[in-house]
Amino acid sequence: ARNSLAGGISSSSRLTSTGPHPYPLYMSSGSGARIRDVDGNEYIDYLISYGSAVLGHAPPVLTDALTRVLSTGTMFGTCNVPEVELAETICRMVPCAELVRFANSGSEAVQGAVRAARGHTGRSRILKFEGHYHGWSDTLAISNRPTEYEAGPPGAPRSVPHSPGIPAGVVDDVVVCPWNDPAALRAVLDARAGELAAVICEPIVANNACTMPDAGYLETLREECTARGIVLIFDEVCTGFRTGPGGAQALFGVVPDLAVFSKALGGGLPIAAFAGRREIMDALASGRVKHGGTYNASPLCATAALVTLRELGDPAVVQRIDAIGRQVMEAARKAAHDQGIPCSVQGVGAMFQTVFTPDGRPTRHYRELLDVDQGRSHAFRHELLKRGVHANAFPMACWFVSAAVTDDELAATCEAVAEAFKA
Ligand code: PMP
Repeated sequence: ARNSLAGGISSSSRLTSTGPHPYPLYMSSGSGARIRDVDGNEYIDYLISYGSAVLGHAPPVLTDALTRVLSTGTMFGTCNVPEVELAETICRMVPCAELVRFANSGSEAVQGAVRAARGHTGRSRILKFEGHYHGWSDTLAISNRPTEYEAGPPGAPRSVPHSPGIPAGVVDDVVVCPWNDPAALRAVLDARAGELAAVICEPIVANNACTMPDAGYLETLREECTARGIVLIFDEVCTGFRTGPGGAQALFGVVPDLAVFSKALGGGLPIAAFAGRREIMDALASGRVKHGGTYNASPLCATAALVTLRELGDPAVVQRIDAIGRQVMEAARKAAHDQGIPCSVQGVGAMFQTVFTPDGRPTRHYRELLDVDQGRSHAFRHELLKRGVHANAFPMACWFVSAAVTDDELAATCEAVAEAFKA
């Protein structure tokens, strides 16, 4: 009976969509931590619009502010006050941020940061890590999916097209290196330091199992980049503002040269930013390196971000998000243990994944993800859906926590998790 409209909509749709869902889910409304589908079924939501709706759905503090902006006109093309206040707010919250530039999506902001690094260093190659995802641009979108990866020696430039139909060779400015492997990193840097403009990483690998950095690994990245004059970019599209007001760089105490933000930044509206050291961002300020876009930091989206960051700047809000997530993580660990199901629950409270590794141990390297039981992950997500809990399942069961989850919803989630493991 669920989503009875789905067949009709999908069979007549002109939308080219590749949604990674066990069956199509058509949501019609959301409020707080809950979303409702077209048949009236309700779910407690831990996908929260791919991690964006960090205050929950339609929070009054956001809808009131946005209604005001819409009714007074969303003029852009001149400077606007919210974007200035937003840039100042980001610089107050984020350790690396001295200058800020805005974009509409994470992919665009990544591209802006890469361009700034290239302009600053005069080099073009970028080093990224296996399984880390940085958006859908042609140069960095080497797939992060295990089955699509080509085997090859670490550090060899890959010519893997990110999608069928894209000619091979378009990504050969990118060097790929294993994560959490200082020796492999040093080997690649020794061979290519003179070519590299930037090293980019997800400090917590949100797009592959929320793999955590080994103790000291981010420090190693920082030291090696500093020693060789390479720009270190943290892609904080997932970790930004959610893992604490200063993002992953504050959480781990390692400050990159540039950082990229989106998702939680806009509270559900499309806005992104890249920010960092004045010396590097100055290439943009002087116009030597270009970055633009019609809708960048429109007053509507800049206001959404300002309101969201005002909330996330309150330590009580971030602590609440973390506490909710940690309780669900604990419930998952206990249920897995009780049922004898190997499962590693990894990440941080605000953002974690339930990863069905063969032995239940945490993942450290990308190649271990090839052994994750994806069938079980999908089954788990399906059992959760049947119990009114909505988490992402692609490629691992992925949880983003909003501040809107009530105590009752938290208790219902923990119960659903226990029952889903049993099922
Ligand atoms: N970087 C990371 C770490 C991401 O998770 C994403 C989106 N999932 C992006 C970049 C790209 O952002 P967008 O989809 O807004 O272009």
